[in-house]
Amino acid sequence: MRLLAALALLALGACATAPAPAPRWSIVVHGGAGVIERANLTPDVEAQYRAAMQRALTTGGSILEAGGSSVDAVEAVIREMEDDPLFNAGRGAVFTAEGRNELDASIMDGSTRAAGAVAGVTVVRHPISAARAVMERSRHVMLVGSGAEAFARTQGLEIVEPGYFFTERRWQQLEQNLRANNLPIPQRPAGAPPAPRAENAWPDDHQFGTVGVVAYDTRGNIAAGTSTGGTTGKRWGRVGDSPVIGAGTYAQNGVCGVSATGTGEFFIRVGVARDICARMQFNGESAQEAADHVIAEVGAALGSDGAAGDGGVIVLDGRGTAAWAMNTPGMYRATQTAGGTPVIQIFADEE
Ligand code: ASP
Repeated sequence: MRLLAALALLALGACATAPAPAPRWSIVVHGGAGVIERANLTPDVEAQYRAAMQRALTTGGSILEAGGSSVDAVEAVIREMEDDPLFNAGRGAVFTAEGRNELDASIMDGSTRAAGAVAGVTVVRHPISAARAVMERSRHVMLVGSGAEAFARTQGLEIVEPGYFFTERRWQQLEQNLRANNLPIPQRPAGAPPAPRAENAWPDDHQFGTVGVVAYDTRGNIAAGTSTGGTTGKRWGRVGDSPVIGAGTYAQNGVCGVSATGTGEFFIRVGVARDICARMQFNGESAQEAADHVIAEVGAALGSDGAAGDGGVIVLDGRGTAAWAMNTPGMYRATQTAGGTPVIQIFADEE
């Protein structure tokens, strides 16, 4: 009898401390952070972004539901977002001061901590696939510029004319940025349509729109990836955090997956993605606590012009629980777990 009571007590104790079961799979996505406010987003544009975030969940969710890997889900969702001119990645990327699109991307497989990245590529249609090829089919982690493009060709990845990435909206943003900085406006790129007579009417003035995905699959493997055109009017081969493993992207099974977006210089200095994971691994912080702490650090870091760092992160913990944090007025973001309802948010104050 006493033995039975003791066993019952033990069982009760185990129930009280057992964590909630992990979802079979989960995914979290971002489409960039910045000055995204209700006042400067028309209902139509807002609906376009919400629909794009829903598409991302559907694409990633169906791969994970079918037992596909987190790496496959991350790549597939980012490829779709790279093709979507709404986002600053692939087609629709922002322009450099010279009027070029220089694209950066990275991916990490948390099951092996293998990683791949490309930076400053101008002709690869899907930079995220080039990053994955670097991870899986080379001995390296990061390839840049013409070397990365030569590698992408050897891997049979799709190559496009630089004009493929052109969008009028991003060109107008570049012209505004260069005028404000008293810099010359370059010629429109070859293959771009002729300049419209009326100024482009895109209502947002934020320069971001990077995309990122973190996925947790039915085998418990976590992967993370990020893809971007960088920041409008960048010069001198500037590269931000997105292709830097540990800054813009990180994944480690049982611990975390992270993708960041924001002013990359600060995210590199703070080592955002790896710091979030280290806090979760060694300090016992939850994904939300770690994300909040590290975004506060980004906001406390000052640039040479005195401006503070800004942006946001999406995070999954080792069991697929999602969190996000930002210090900007908005971040396009969405998450879903197996059998759950999608959560799609834009403005910082949305619950
Ligand atoms: N983090 C990117 C960069 O600095 C930009 C962004 O996320 O919007 O290149």
